[in-house]
This record gives sequence, C-alpha cells and structure tokens, in this order.
Amino acid sequence: MISLSLDWFLLAVLGVGLLALVMLWVPQLWFRHPHRWSNSELQICRCPKCHYSFFVPPQQNQAACPACKERFRIRCRGNFLRY
Ligand SMILES: [Zn+2]
Repeated sequence: MISLSLDWFLLAVLGVGLLALVMLWVPQLWFRHPHRWSNSELQICRCPKCHYSFFVPPQQNQAACPACKERFRIRCRGNFLRY
C-alpha cells in the first residue's frame, strides 16, 4: 500500500481538480463560436418611409429606396437579420 501524507493527498486532490477544470475549459475555448451566423455579402435594409426591404452592400452607410427613391442613412449594422 502506498503511504501518503495529508499534504501530498491534498496536493493530489488539488492537482486532479485543476486537471479536470482544464479538461472542461479547453473544449469550451475550442468550440466557442464554430458556426456564428453572419451575413455573407449583403445586408437587409428597410426603408423608414415605405417599409420596403431591399439588399445593401455591407460598407455602404447611405441607401436609396428603390420603391420610393427616399435617401436615408443605414443605422442598423448588426450581424443578424431583423424581421
Ligand atoms: Zn421607400
């Protein structure tokens, strides 16, 4: 039988606990956001005047509505689509 003092036993318990914590933490870092939703190239913009929805290139900060020809600034630049 292995004789183990209390100090070495507590150190072994602490080491096993830290090892278990690292084994749970590393996969969380690895698989954090593997498939985050994002717009591919275009974003959807909605006209504030007539509520017509249309696509706009992502670097554009102004748009003209194709339905009513109203020009306005694009305010919402999120990574998600709003319906
Ligand atoms: Zn419009």
